Amino acid sequence: MAETLLKKQVRPMFEKNWKEHYQVKALTKLGYERKICKNCGDPFWTLDSSKEICSDSSCMGVSFLGKKTKEYSYTECWKKIEKFFEKNGHTSIPRYPVIPRWRSDLYFTNASIIDFQPYVVNGEVKPPADPLIVPQTSI
Ligand SMILES: [Zn+2]
Repeated sequence: MAETLLKKQVRPMFEKNWKEHYQVKALTKLGYERKICKNCGDPFWTLDSSKEICSDSSCMGVSFLGKKTKEYSYTECWKKIEKFFEKNGHTSIPRYPVIPRWRSDLYFTNASIIDFQPYVVNGEVKPPADPLIVPQTSI
């Protein structure tokens, strides 16, 4: 039986007796309460007894960024970020390849700092700009 099908079948049984199957005593000892989200119906744990909606972004929205005013493509988003940093004294440089040229211990660039390791980071070569911003693709 596929795992998802099995979950679909047993979940209602487990939900009926959730304390036996899902209660996390360490959480209840800390004052957490298990609730059912009024929006999506999924269970969640909270310290706030007045909370009725889980913290999933599909239920709560993405409130830490404020109200969404516009949809941006990847490129539009990058251009906005680039403009902000340029306005604040950074030089935008072209991205480096995703295959790190000077790091034989890595197959792929997994952070933009890899672009500058080891030679820039150890001081042998000056960075192309300082400060800078790079739209580095990382894998
Ligand atoms: Zn929810």
